Amino acid sequence: MNGDSETPPAAGGQPAGESTGHGGEEHAYETERPFDYRWTQEAYSMLLSGELQAKAIRKGSVGIFHISGACPRCGHYFEQSDVLEAVTTGERARETPEPERRQNEGSEYAEADVACACSEPHTGRPANDKGCGIKFRVDAAWEQG
Ligand SMILES: [Zn+2]
Ligand SMILES: [Zn+2]
Repeated sequence: MNGDSETPPAAGGQPAGESTGHGGEEHAYETERPFDYRWTQEAYSMLLSGELQAKAIRKGSVGIFHISGACPRCGHYFEQSDVLEAVTTGERARETPEPERRQNEGSEYAEADVACACSEPHTGRPANDKGCGIKFRVDAAWEQG
């Protein structure tokens, strides 16, 4: 053993920013802007293209929101179900105008905030968590359950 081994870091330190060398498509767990609006926009176009699928099924006054497909950020497959307790109907008075929003008054849409729940590893993710850390809003037309 001679020569050029690196000096070990001072006592107790973990090497910071160590890179695994290859990849480049890795997404560390998002903590700065988990709810960045771009993910909602991205999810919206993925719903239109079929990469993501969302369903809202109404059962009485309770709704089940189900989403499956590729995460808008990390691209990993995930699925997620949510119970929507208060079923909202046709709220049109929104503060933020959304020109792209479907203007179909005959249909009612359910909205849900969804978090990526892929089971792939993402650097920095809390041990009891899933996904890559992003959240986004998705809507789907109500179906009768
Ligand atoms: Zn992922
Ligand atoms: Zn993700």
